[in-house]
Amino acid sequence: MGKHIGLALALLLAGPAANAQKPAARTPAQVAAEVRDYRRGNEGRIVRELREFLAIPNAASDSVNIRKNAQQLIEMLEARGIETHALAIPGRGPVIYGKLITPEAARTVIFYAHYDGQPADAKAWTGGKPFEPALRTDSIEAGGQLIPFPADTSKNPAHYEDNWRIYARSAGDDKSPIVALLAALDALRAKKIPLGVNLKFILEGEEEAGSPNLERTMQANRNLLAGDVLLVADGPVDPSGLPLVDFGNRGVIDVQLTVYGPLRPLHSGHYGNWAPNPAFHLARLLASMKDEDGRVLVDGFYDDVVPLSATERKAIEEMPANDEKLREELQFGQAEGGGRKLMELINQPSLNIRGLRSAYVGAESQNVLLEHIRKQGYFVVDHEPTKEERLAHARVAKVTTEGGYPATRTPMDTPVARKLVEVLESAAGKTVKMPTSGGSVPMYIFENLGLPVIGVPIANHDDRQHTSDENLRLGNLWRGMEIYGAILADMTW
Ligand SMILES: [Zn+2]
Repeated sequence: MGKHIGLALALLLAGPAANAQKPAARTPAQVAAEVRDYRRGNEGRIVRELREFLAIPNAASDSVNIRKNAQQLIEMLEARGIETHALAIPGRGPVIYGKLITPEAARTVIFYAHYDGQPADAKAWTGGKPFEPALRTDSIEAGGQLIPFPADTSKNPAHYEDNWRIYARSAGDDKSPIVALLAALDALRAKKIPLGVNLKFILEGEEEAGSPNLERTMQANRNLLAGDVLLVADGPVDPSGLPLVDFGNRGVIDVQLTVYGPLRPLHSGHYGNWAPNPAFHLARLLASMKDEDGRVLVDGFYDDVVPLSATERKAIEEMPANDEKLREELQFGQAEGGGRKLMELINQPSLNIRGLRSAYVGAESQNVLLEHIRKQGYFVVDHEPTKEERLAHARVAKVTTEGGYPATRTPMDTPVARKLVEVLESAAGKTVKMPTSGGSVPMYIFENLGLPVIGVPIANHDDRQHTSDENLRLGNLWRGMEIYGAILADMTW
């Protein structure tokens, strides 16, 4: 009995002194709740910053506007006291580098996002324009109606419903995560929650153009990149709506393939059945590359695929079963893959046809593909074939590549990966763990610099990234703020 009393007294005495030295640590869930509370009073301001950013056209090749985006970003970062540098790329938008040092932080988190977007065809947008952000009460597919952005005054702060969506190019991919992270930083400061990490930013302006200068720029500035993990904000969350972390990227290689027929266009009645039709040749050649079930038939295509670990297999088994719902949403009768799940198949390379043109139609070389085309009886060239070449061969194909980059995968059972998942699950509940994301994203650059790369996307799965009517569900922006706030406050491992 005496012992118990003694202990209670000691605790009482120690309590106030310990608190004076160090504020009580908050759990990620508590941080998320504080960020939410801040956000509820500041939705108008957060959305205004996003709208202004989305209103600047951002095709990587639009050298005037892409620099305006960069300038805006610099102002957004500097307004938060972040040391900011533009790493110039001739003729393109710079890589924006930012640094915010937290005294006594042991770890440095580098946040990667891109501020360029896919080129946008204004005519294809429904009831709006790509760079005039519009607000709807839901997705267009779900019957969402256009509404004005709510007025925002100090007396009556604007309120946005979770299901409302902002329509604009890059709303989902990839400006909103930048705004979410900065708003999370504002929230932590307003709530006097100290940062637990040093924070660095790598914000790229030509990801959608294949990141042709990122590797060189990062290699030249590798002294800036000291850190412990690179978090990628690109991509969507799980179709179920659950938050998601991904540990890899699929990589990409672009190949242009042209087959040849008669030199000039011919009348089908006068020449049909005699003159070879390259559209049929191309159709047969492409069909020879993949079976009915989606399996690539090019010899050696799967040879260097790294097998999934037991942890990765388990993560895939635990992922929500979204396939049937997705198939219905996308309206096709049968999926490829012999009954295997999308989330399993996404860990293998895929061969896809991005576009076909006939008649008035349009890196590193993928050797296995060239060999396959040769095996189908084609004479393969890398230039426009000469008259002699065309006459000497029954089938001629031109194959050129437009660069690309390898896939990446970070092990899921490292301390940093486990900590990140723990922070997310505390901050936002059940979180989907995805060994490989479907996005290409040139993360091999950072992997080669020795950084583990983990994706923490926030956008809705149906954000229509890369196409018309791109959008962001506001509930995803709000949850993204909470997740990023929890990471900034709690990512120590
Ligand atoms: Zn992207």
